[in-house]
Amino acid sequence: MNILILGGGGREHALAWAVRQNPKCDRLIVAPGNAGIANVAECADLNILSRAEVLEFAQENAIDFVLIGPEAPLAAGVSDALRNAGFLVFGPSQAAAQLEASKAFTKEICDACGAPTAAWARFSDADSARDYVARQGAPIVVKADGLAAGKGVTVADTVEQAHQAIEAIFEGEFGKMSVVIEEFMPGEEASFFVLCDGTNCLPIGTAQDHKRVGDGDTGPNTGGMGAYSPAPVLTQALQDQVMARIVQPTVAEMAARGTPFQGVLYAGLMIDRGQARLVEYNVRFGDPECQVLMMRLGGQVLDLLLACAEGRLAGMSVHWADDHALTVVMAAQGYPGDYRKGSVLTGLDGLSETSFAMTFHAGTAARDGQVIAAGGRVLACTGRGATLAEAHERAYAQVDGIDWPQGFCRRDIGWRAL
Ligand code: ATP
Repeated sequence: MNILILGGGGREHALAWAVRQNPKCDRLIVAPGNAGIANVAECADLNILSRAEVLEFAQENAIDFVLIGPEAPLAAGVSDALRNAGFLVFGPSQAAAQLEASKAFTKEICDACGAPTAAWARFSDADSARDYVARQGAPIVVKADGLAAGKGVTVADTVEQAHQAIEAIFEGEFGKMSVVIEEFMPGEEASFFVLCDGTNCLPIGTAQDHKRVGDGDTGPNTGGMGAYSPAPVLTQALQDQVMARIVQPTVAEMAARGTPFQGVLYAGLMIDRGQARLVEYNVRFGDPECQVLMMRLGGQVLDLLLACAEGRLAGMSVHWADDHALTVVMAAQGYPGDYRKGSVLTGLDGLSETSFAMTFHAGTAARDGQVIAAGGRVLACTGRGATLAEAHERAYAQVDGIDWPQGFCRRDIGWRAL
């Protein structure tokens, strides 16, 4: 079959790498792709936020199956345009993508289906928000309601900090918005990934990531500096609890509202004293969590995603190896602040590319036969092994094989689980 993947980051490289291994995959195109993806697929220059452009491209190239990687095309309704034209698509409708695009929407769904989450309130003016915070006290969490690329959330230790965050939101830092104020939930965070076909759900793995830029989980937040799977904190008993109390009720509520959820539901969870509560939903794979999941799932992922898109998840199961995967993100110096593009990466040709060690490209481009950095997060060096320690060793062996003085990475990915 002819498969089109939308996106061009480490997540899409990992998806393409896994999908390519499945014999059902004949032609594989990734738009826009990157220098690493070009080794496993054709790359196409396409505006993936334009419904018309993606639809025309899919028609011209006789595409059988479209996988949507990032959230932006989902929020823009690209999946609806494709589905309405008869294409098989992996990824939720624009209406179901509200589970990520709007924090207030997700909170309403949780309230309606009884899924445990932080107590919350929503305000459309700064004064009422400030009064509420003053009454509740700190710690407290202030969130801009909308897609803010992870930058719209403040976990405030003091009422003063929370007031400043409210100010910033209403002064238009994130455009015209309302604010969601949440109870602070203590605990350990973990991510749980579940395929949903509108009715049926199939868990496909757990992960934990490192959001802070510096070793020891210090410094500013990033898109993610590394991840590992499975997440030891999400025991089987907790996964069962999350399926029964959070994921399945959400999927049933979405279906009852006439907006069934089809795609991957990525539940960000807070675990405290054996109880899980929902922090947030994402409606696509995480980056870099996708890299560790794909490393563990391999070629079967195409069968799973197809079953998801075709509404056949009920009979499916995942073939698990008893394995662990870990990924280390290499970023351009300066990230997540200002950083330079265009520096040359060498040593990539010498790296092994196996089901135990893969370097996925996130922000790279090809120039004059060389690979150059073209983004903040540039590579995701990923290892798999029988133990997390083995996966860790394989991931860092790749890091150490890359010559890129303008880049850096954290040296302690996985510390909590190791
Ligand atoms: P991301 O880029 O992580 O998807 P986001 O903008 O969608 O971010 P959230 O995931 O809702 O925002 O929040 C970001 C982070 O803030 C969470 O990963 C968590 O660490 C922290 N956080 C959010 N809500 C709470 C809460 N109620 N209690 C404690 N911590 C929270």
